[in-house]
Amino acid sequence: MSRFLHVASVADAVAAAVRIASDPVSEELPAGRTTGRVLGEDVIAMEDIPGFDRSVVDGFAVRAGDTTGASEAIPALLQCTGRVAMGYSDAALTVTNGTCIYIPTGGVIPAGADAVIMVEHTDKAGDTVLVKRPAAHGENLLLHDEDFRRGTTIFPAGRRLSPQDAGVLAACGKTSVVVAKRPVIGIISTGNELVPVSITPGPGQIRDANASMLAAYLSEYGCIPRHYGIVADEQEAFMTVISRALTECDVVLLSGGSSKDDRDMTASVIAEKGEVLVHGVALAPGKPTIIGRIDNKPVFGLPGHPASAYVVLIVIVRPLLDRMLGLKKSPLRTTRAVLGNSVPSQRGREEYIRVRLEDGIANPVFGKSGLLNTLVVSDGLIRIPAGCEGMEKGSVVEVILW
Ligand code: AMP
Ligand code: MG
Repeated sequence: MSRFLHVASVADAVAAAVRIASDPVSEELPAGRTTGRVLGEDVIAMEDIPGFDRSVVDGFAVRAGDTTGASEAIPALLQCTGRVAMGYSDAALTVTNGTCIYIPTGGVIPAGADAVIMVEHTDKAGDTVLVKRPAAHGENLLLHDEDFRRGTTIFPAGRRLSPQDAGVLAACGKTSVVVAKRPVIGIISTGNELVPVSITPGPGQIRDANASMLAAYLSEYGCIPRHYGIVADEQEAFMTVISRALTECDVVLLSGGSSKDDRDMTASVIAEKGEVLVHGVALAPGKPTIIGRIDNKPVFGLPGHPASAYVVLIVIVRPLLDRMLGLKKSPLRTTRAVLGNSVPSQRGREEYIRVRLEDGIANPVFGKSGLLNTLVVSDGLIRIPAGCEGMEKGSVVEVILW
C-alpha cells in the first residue's frame, strides 16, 4: 500500500526546486584559483590575441608569389637576409622580392612576408634557400587577432571554468575574474540505526554512507558541504540541528526519514518550521523525496537508501545548484549506447536504471536500491521517461555517466 496519495512529476519537482533557488552571488577571485568555478560575467578580450602576426612553424618568411611552381626538381631560390629573434619585433627586417628571413615558431612575421615555408621543405646552400614546394598566401601564419579579437567574448557568463580556460585567461591578461560564490550546503543524516564512519556498527546499525557521498558530490560540483552529523529519529534533536544548519547554510539536505512512515519526521519538521512544497515524486528510485522551504532557504529530504539519495541528488537537487551557481549548460556527461537487456518500467513514473558499459553496450545492473555495490559496479544511469513501459533490448539509450 502506498502512503503517497499525491506525487509530483519529476518535471514539477525540478521546477519547484529551481523556483526556490536563490540567485548566484558574485565574488572576484584571482584567475588562477577559479578552475571549477562558474563565471559570473562575460570575459571580454581586452586586446587582440596574439597581438602580432606570428609563425606557427620553424621556417622561412617569404612572399608566397616567389615560391609559385617551386618543386623538388626545380626549387625556388631565395636569398636569406636575416633571422627573426624570439620575443622581439625588428622593424628593420623586411622580406622583399627574391628574399626570405629565417623565423622560428612564434616569431614575429617580418614586414613584406605573407607566408612561412617550413624548414623541412627547404635546403640551404650558404645564404641561398632552396624552396622545394610553393607556399600559399597566409600559409603557416597566425594573424594578430586570429585567436581572440579585442572586444569579443572569450567566455560567456555561466561557464564552468576548466583547466584549459585558466591558460586562456592567463594568455589574455586576466588576473582576476568574477565567479559565483560556492553555495554552502548543510548535510544532515537521520536515523537511529546510523553510526559515524569511524565506528564499528553494532547489531542493527550501519555506517552513515550518505553524508560522505553527498559531500563528495557537492564539493566536486562547486559547492561547500557542511556536515551536521547524525541525528536520531527524535523531533527535538532534529529541530535543533536543522535550525543551526539553516543559519549557517544556503541549502540543507537531509537524508533518511523522508517517507511517510510514522517514524519519518523530516516532512513534519519542515512543515512545522516552514513549508513542504513537494512530498513524493514519481521517480524511481527516489519516490520519498521532500522539497521544502524554511526561512526562504531550500530544504530537501532525500531517501535514506544511498543509491536513491544519489539519483535524487542528480535529478532534482542538481538543477537547483545549477541555478544558484548561474550555470548555463548542464555539466552532465552522457554517452550513447545500445541497451543490452530489456528493462521493464512502471508507466507514470520516471525511472533511472544503473547500467554498466561494455563495448558500447549498456547492461542494466539490477539490484535493490539498498545495495551499495550497484553504485560502484555501474558506469551511470539511463532514464526511462514516465510515459514509457520500459525499453527493449537493442534500443539506443543515452547514458548519464557518473
Ligand atoms: P529511511 O529513508 O530513513 O527510511 O531509510 C531507508 C534505508 O536507508 C534504511 O535501510 C536506512 O538504514 C538507510 N539509510 C538511511 N540513512 C542512511 C545513511 N546516511 N547512510 C546509509 N544508509 C542510510
Ligand atoms: Mg530512517
